[in-house]
Amino acid sequence: MPYARMNLSSIREIPVIEVATRLGIQVRGTKAMCFSGHDKNSPSLSFHKAHNTWRCFGACGKHGDTIALVMEKEGVDFKSAVEWLAQNFAIDVEPGRRGQRRQTRSCITKKSTIMAAPLPESEYIADPELYAWFISKCDLVTSAAGIKYLDSHGISSETAQRFNIRQLSKPGYALQKLVETWGEQRVCSSGIAWCKDGHADRLIWNSYALLFPFYNDGQITYIQARMIGGDKKFLNLRGIVKPLFNIDRLSGLQPGHTVHLCEGVPDAIALESQNLIGIGILGATSFRAEWVDRFLKFRVIVLGDGDQAGAKFASDISRFFMERGKPVQCMSLPKGKDVADVLAQGGSAK
Ligand SMILES: [Zn+2]
Repeated sequence: MPYARMNLSSIREIPVIEVATRLGIQVRGTKAMCFSGHDKNSPSLSFHKAHNTWRCFGACGKHGDTIALVMEKEGVDFKSAVEWLAQNFAIDVEPGRRGQRRQTRSCITKKSTIMAAPLPESEYIADPELYAWFISKCDLVTSAAGIKYLDSHGISSETAQRFNIRQLSKPGYALQKLVETWGEQRVCSSGIAWCKDGHADRLIWNSYALLFPFYNDGQITYIQARMIGGDKKFLNLRGIVKPLFNIDRLSGLQPGHTVHLCEGVPDAIALESQNLIGIGILGATSFRAEWVDRFLKFRVIVLGDGDQAGAKFASDISRFFMERGKPVQCMSLPKGKDVADVLAQGGSAK
C-alpha cells in the first residue's frame, strides 16, 4: 500500500461522523455511546462537526481526529489507522506503483515518524462535564441587582429556576476552583477563561454576572453570561460554536406546534414564562443551515426586535427556511422593544 503518497489532510477531512459509523459506532445526531464501554445510560461520545473532532466526556476522556478515532476504537497504530481510512473512504493512493514497493516502504517510515507527532487539534472544545460542574457550584440568583435584571425582563424566580440561571459572584475564586478540579489545560480549551501560554489568567466573566446554561440532550453544551456589574453586556465562551438556546424544548412537542425563534436568551425565557415556545439564537450569523431540520414539523415564527437590527435578524433567519421551502412567519415587535419588554409590560407577542 503506497501509504506515503496518501494525502493525510484528506484523511483528516473525512467527516468524523461517517468514520464513526463505518467503525460500527451508532451515532445519533452528534452523540454516541462511548466505544470504551463505560456508558450505561447516556452517551458520552460527542462529535464536533465544524472541527471534525470527537471527544468522550465520560470516564475515558479520549479525544482526537479521524485517525485517532480509528486508532482508539480498533486498537491499531497510526499507520494502520491511516491505511484503514484510505481503504474505506477511497482516498486516492496513486495505484500502479507496486513494482517499487521497497522504495515506497522506506518513505512510509520516514513520513510516519513525522506524522506521528501529536495531532493538531482545535484549541477549543465544548466541555459539558466541566460546564455542568461549574454551574452546579454557582448559586441561584439572590443578589438585588440580579433579581432586578430578571424582573425587568419578565423572568419570574420560578422560570429562573426552571432554566437553572445562576449568579457568579467571585470570578477569581471560581477560576481557582476550576483549575484545581479540571486542570489548566482543560479549563483553557473549554473557552471559559482567558489563557496565555497555557496558563489560565482570568475567567471570561470577571465581575458579577448571571449565567445561562444551554442544554442539549440534557447536557450543558454552552454558557452565556449577562454581566451586571461593570460593562452591562453579554459575554460568550471563547472559541466555542454558539448553539441554540432551549433546543431541548422541541423534543416531545407535537407536529404543528408554534415555535418562536428569537434573538438571544432572555427573549426565549420571557416567551417561555408566558407558556410560549421560545428558542434563542445568538445572532443571525451563528445560525447554521442544518438546524432548519429541527423545525420542519413545527409552525415557525421568527421574532425580531422593533429596530433595524431586529428586522435584519428576522429576514436573515427566514432566508435559511425559505431555501428549504419551509414557510415561516416574521414578526417584529413595536419600535424599540424586544420580546422581553413587551411581555414584561403584560403585552403579548402573538
Ligand atoms: Zn469514553
